[in-house]
Amino acid sequence: MIIAIDGPAGSGKSTIAKKVAEQLEFTFLDTGAMYRMVTLYNLVDSQKLEDEQTIIQSLNKINIKVVKNHFYLNNQLVDKEIRMDKVSRNVSYVAAIKEVRNYLVSLQREIAKNNNCILDGRDIASVVFPNADYKFYLNASITERANRRFKEQDKQSLEEIKQDIKNRDMYDMTRKESPLIKVADAVEIDTSNLSINQVCKLILAEVKK
Ligand code: C5P
Repeated sequence: MIIAIDGPAGSGKSTIAKKVAEQLEFTFLDTGAMYRMVTLYNLVDSQKLEDEQTIIQSLNKINIKVVKNHFYLNNQLVDKEIRMDKVSRNVSYVAAIKEVRNYLVSLQREIAKNNNCILDGRDIASVVFPNADYKFYLNASITERANRRFKEQDKQSLEEIKQDIKNRDMYDMTRKESPLIKVADAVEIDTSNLSINQVCKLILAEVKK
């Protein structure tokens, strides 16, 4: 069985998907983390991004492993590094490159193959698994999404975070390759005023229907 969860940054996808996966004893795959790993690898001097061709070529040198929601880039654990601001700011550019998407989508299909799997991302229901058994689109107001991110860190102001999220949404929703969309048959959940447990319950109720 495949459960697809899509939605914009900060909508609660990963937190919710992880919890639902635990309850159902499914494999959980955070596909955003995979785009983050390719971005991390391509930050020159850990700051500026390589050019598009170099990023495409880097795919031959990158080995991505996901073991129980821990992320290994060329056998190095990068759980913390992939969440850094500089990665968040550059990841949408990397994720818009067709070759990067093709590479990661086939890896995602391979990991989910022969497993009950819940995947979260931007194009799971539209591209990776258009025939997923259940499709959800999580959303929340920009203020609420920025607040959630703000509470998780102590480096950026709320305004900076809001702006970063807006930029990322815009880039992810308007890119040519697999833009973030809500597919017609997805169940949309606005998580703005819901607790994590409430959202999990809504999803589990759909799945057990
Ligand atoms: O989910 P997360 O915020 O970690 O995703 C980081 C970025 O990776 C997104 O902003 C988007 O550019 C990209 N992404 C994507 N397709 C996915 C998952 C993430 O393009 N399935």
